[in-house]
Amino acid sequence: MTRILGGSDLAAAIRNDASVAAAALTEIGIRPKLAVVLATADESTAWYVRSIAGAARRTGIECDIVDFGPEATTEEIHAVLVELGHDPDVHGIILQTPLPDGTDLDLLREAINPGKDIDGTNPVSLGRLIAHLPAFAPATAQAVLALLDHHGIDLRGKTATVVGRSTVVGTPVAHLLVQRDATVTVCHRHTADLVAGTRSADIVVVAVGIPRLITAEHISDGAVVIDVGTTATDDGLLLGDVDADSVDGRAGALTPVPGGVGPVTTALLLNHTVDAASTQSAVRRAASLVGLQSSR
Ligand code: ADP
Repeated sequence: MTRILGGSDLAAAIRNDASVAAAALTEIGIRPKLAVVLATADESTAWYVRSIAGAARRTGIECDIVDFGPEATTEEIHAVLVELGHDPDVHGIILQTPLPDGTDLDLLREAINPGKDIDGTNPVSLGRLIAHLPAFAPATAQAVLALLDHHGIDLRGKTATVVGRSTVVGTPVAHLLVQRDATVTVCHRHTADLVAGTRSADIVVVAVGIPRLITAEHISDGAVVIDVGTTATDDGLLLGDVDADSVDGRAGALTPVPGGVGPVTTALLLNHTVDAASTQSAVRRAASLVGLQSSR
């Protein structure tokens, strides 16, 4: 029997913590605020952003969507990211992908104020994460670890294989697993023998965006499989990277798509926004105290 590792309960608990903290901040005059920058005609992305905005508002977080549409240029988006970085009323910034062809995603990610980089996509955030310094982890990567912890899956001394090496999912997940004392293998599009890479693992995390890439032959008996993939189909379905029917009975545990990593990711984005608001207000209070003392 394959155990299903759902994310909805954990997501609800994280959202609840975030809403308690948001209410406490609002009480002292700090209303947590998230800005989502969007530049695509892709309907499933727009739907995802609206769902984040709705969840934020239900949690007591203000949410502005800055929608450029699919014709936006790097310069336009860059200017807004810099402006949001300086705006004292904005605590968290998400730069939603995909962006229009030809825009410079690396440059734009670097323009996100690291203190407001609640999805950990600025390379400064990733560098700090790898160096064990305080930083926002990419929410999807953190959601993988949060789900494993929530379901009581021990990581120390285990073998883990991460399939995919993107800077927003595969690479940070691999580092977070190492930080938790797992022994990690990373597979990617040039891996000669993916089956060998995944079959040796106690835990397999898949983040490639290829529906049903992983089947029973990739999985050893009893392995824990975390499916990060979410490919939206034209008829409104969301497909994972793991063929759930195929691995059923072979895997010891599997996260569902939808309803696994996704809801936890969204909840963590809200939690990060509240954390960012709290840190920024503490920094501002400290700065104004120092200012008061020096003017005496
Ligand atoms: P995301 O950011 O959602 O993880 P990307 O498209 O940025 O998506 O990254 C996809 C990752 O999947 C890349 O690291 C790539 O090497 C990996 N990948 C793509 N195809 C395969 C494959 N057939 N086998 C293993 N890994 C793959």
